[in-house]
Amino acid sequence: MIAFDYLRPHAIDTAMDATRERPESRFIAGGTNMLDLMKLGIERPRHLIDVGALDLKTIEDTPEGGLRVGTLVTNGDLAADPRVRARYPVLSRAILAGASAQLRNKATTGGNLLQRTRCSYFYDPATACNKRAPGSGCSAVGGFNRIMAILGTSPHCIASHPSDMAVAMRALNARVETRTPAGQHRARPLNELYRLPGDTPHIETQLEPGELITAVTLPPPPAGRQVYRKVRDRASFAFALVSVAGIVAVEDGRIAGAALAFGGIGTMPWRDRTAEALLVGAEPDRALFVRVADAVLADAKGEGANDFKLPLFRRTLIACLSALTKEGGQ
Ligand code: SF4
Repeated sequence: MIAFDYLRPHAIDTAMDATRERPESRFIAGGTNMLDLMKLGIERPRHLIDVGALDLKTIEDTPEGGLRVGTLVTNGDLAADPRVRARYPVLSRAILAGASAQLRNKATTGGNLLQRTRCSYFYDPATACNKRAPGSGCSAVGGFNRIMAILGTSPHCIASHPSDMAVAMRALNARVETRTPAGQHRARPLNELYRLPGDTPHIETQLEPGELITAVTLPPPPAGRQVYRKVRDRASFAFALVSVAGIVAVEDGRIAGAALAFGGIGTMPWRDRTAEALLVGAEPDRALFVRVADAVLADAKGEGANDFKLPLFRRTLIACLSALTKEGGQ
């Protein structure tokens, strides 16, 4: 047992004061990932600041026609919200494709975005892992790497990002609002929250120490059909081998707009604007979808046991695009 202090502030200013005064503190909300990491000794905070009592649990309509989701909204409540189900079905479906009902009822919006990889070596302190112990090496390169990423990897880390929710939010152009320990309010596109592993895979986000996610803002819902398709080893309670969040609008037989984001294949929730640009203005057909899949995979690199993700992703994306563009519904 590693001793730590536990604080549960009831005001955000108090929480920020607490983290500013305690540089070795960590936030906890639902705890569905943090508690596992603490039990394994991977996270060893000296001070644990429980933000669960803060007033950040509401989903509000924005003047622009979008939604502002408080960071403490649980994954279950977000997926079940009638506005999300009606206007952002890709998000609702992505969340429901993740974890179990019990976990979704504890896990929070901000915590979901910041969950750590499920690379098995990361959770095994007896093995080398640059993400857990910088400079120790990467056991997954040349090791058991079936679930690892094929895009955005580096020789120092090939771990995939585990979130389904974040994939849908990337397709929806979500923005992340934060508060810094100095009291500054920030808002950034979701893609600017994450970092590629490079040679510092232990630094996963652009957040400064003690910076707290307070909300996620969704722009007004995009035109077109939305779909989230996840391929995994079992029907529930499993992370994606590959997943696709797709939003495609078709007008007069041509694709008028497209947003595509991918899970399971990238070291962060992945999006490829070049591939999307191939779709816009084109008539949908299988040859086009194959070119789009080729574009996404242009820089993809398997590590042996995860080579199967390339053809699996190709088939999944083509099936999604076919469903999104065929006449008469998905
Ligand atoms: Fe660690 Fe990343 Fe290598 Fe997994 S892939 S062992 S998380 S460095």
